[in-house]
Amino acid sequence: MVTDSIPKSRLLQAEYQKSDVTRGLQVPPDDRLLKAARSIEEALATEEAAVVREACVAFLAEAAEYYGVSVPQVRVLRARPIRARDSGGGTELFGDYHFEQKLIRVWMRTAIQKRVTSFGTFFATLCHEFCHHLDRDRFGFSETPHTRGFFERTAALYHHARATPAKRLVWAPSGRGRWRIDWARTNLGE
Ligand SMILES: [Zn+2]
Repeated sequence: MVTDSIPKSRLLQAEYQKSDVTRGLQVPPDDRLLKAARSIEEALATEEAAVVREACVAFLAEAAEYYGVSVPQVRVLRARPIRARDSGGGTELFGDYHFEQKLIRVWMRTAIQKRVTSFGTFFATLCHEFCHHLDRDRFGFSETPHTRGFFERTAALYHHARATPAKRLVWAPSGRGRWRIDWARTNLGE
């Protein structure tokens, strides 16, 4: 995971900065999101997109209610599209978020082998896209950049809903104001 470049415009720089320093995310004091996440895990095991979507709708409704934001739409799609890269090869698209439509799209199968995605990967993507929605609807960020704060908020939501311990993310400079997660040091729990 690498953060986005710092934007050129002053206004967007201020927003980027605010997103970067907003490291934590409040989570519900009860298990409503844990239950909703477990339903997604069970739904994914059926390998039926419609069933998975229904569970995602329920999770997003719970989360939106808790955070006091509108409920985003969600579409669960089958095999991930591949985006070509300049360096050759391609990257798979896991999910995205459409600003105006407030629409989250998540893919549930891998691009080549069309296998059902692991729950961890699928749910991490859903949390990531929901955090874009939160950025827009709760924090008022127009561009919802991938900052250190953004990734930490996403991780807070993910680990809360899965009841897994959140590791403190260790960041390493990645050039031109960007940061990447130093997984070796993060996993050591430094
Ligand atoms: Zn994103």
